[in-house]
Amino acid sequence: MTSLADLPLRADLVGRSAYGAPQLHVSVTLNVNENTHPVPEVVRAAVLDRIAAALDDVNRYPDREFTALREALAGYLGHDLTPAQLWAANGSNEVLQHVFQAFGGPGRTLLTFPPTYSMYPNYAVTSGTAVVEGRRDDDYRLSPETVVAEILRTTPDIVILCAPNNPTGTPVGLDTVRAAYDATDGVLLVDEAYGEFMPADAPSALTLLPGRPRLAVSRTMSKAFAFAGARLGYLAADPAFTDALRLVRLPYHLSAITQAAALGALAHAPLMLRMVDEIRDQRERTAAGLEALGYRVWPSWTNFVLFGGVDDPHALWQGLLDRGVLIRDLGIDGTLRVSAGTAAETDLFLDAMAALTPVVAR
Ligand code: PMP
Repeated sequence: MTSLADLPLRADLVGRSAYGAPQLHVSVTLNVNENTHPVPEVVRAAVLDRIAAALDDVNRYPDREFTALREALAGYLGHDLTPAQLWAANGSNEVLQHVFQAFGGPGRTLLTFPPTYSMYPNYAVTSGTAVVEGRRDDDYRLSPETVVAEILRTTPDIVILCAPNNPTGTPVGLDTVRAAYDATDGVLLVDEAYGEFMPADAPSALTLLPGRPRLAVSRTMSKAFAFAGARLGYLAADPAFTDALRLVRLPYHLSAITQAAALGALAHAPLMLRMVDEIRDQRERTAAGLEALGYRVWPSWTNFVLFGGVDDPHALWQGLLDRGVLIRDLGIDGTLRVSAGTAAETDLFLDAMAALTPVVAR
């Protein structure tokens, strides 16, 4: 049988492994921070209507500039953003890949702050960008002083701040974002994939866009919006920044079906987002339940919780899986991460944790 080693693979890809969060069919899936609530019936109907209309023209290429979608995304985000400031692609994964294709590349460097989203180094490697890792403060926080010191030490071309951070849930203050922008000559990408789960009064980095043409803020419909399967991510930045991304995207990268589905969902944004409060409540229940069992829980502004004090993370992960509950082992010493699900899923997770936690640890 032919293996990868038999193929003339690019040297910098040899030995690398593909993104691979397990996709297992179990009753409680809390491993990839999805929104586990179904899309409301009225939104399903609206999406289907839009897709049906899009099919009338599906013999033609879609609107390359996804004009209606940009308008809808600008309207959804607010902050006086104009459609020219919006960019979208098949998931924020593809949006971030565009950023690397435009602003990274051979001879250029990404600064990232692990533990953070595992795909950042992957976009770097596949675009020929070098990766340097910055250190965090205690409890995974990022103070302005630390971020500035790491930028001055590494002089990166791309800096990514995941705010709030996956997989730790840690918020990033706007003072840190401002200081990072002032310290770098490169682009600063603030990944707000979990932005809608922040406290309602916590300001978004979107408020910092005016006058900062090297700043971009990315978002996704995969998390709060319960639309992960539709694949729609986006970013907001200066119009010149989105213009740069046009240089690297493939022609017609957003299908007419994707654009139609996203427009259908955005037309019902309040309904799609009505579960956010409930998910935050389940996150707090999950955190309190884990603490009651004797685990350490880091404060989270997202739809998941990182917990520590786990003697054997893999054994606990497997024990949960044997009970039909899938969570995530990210290889961070003594920790596991669990997404906030429905109330029933939270019950099942906490019951399984109670059964698997030695009494002595409580
Ligand atoms: N950024 C972060 C921080 C994430 O956690 C994820 C998904 N887990 C993404 C980006 C990518 O999400 P998507 O491509 O579904 O928009």
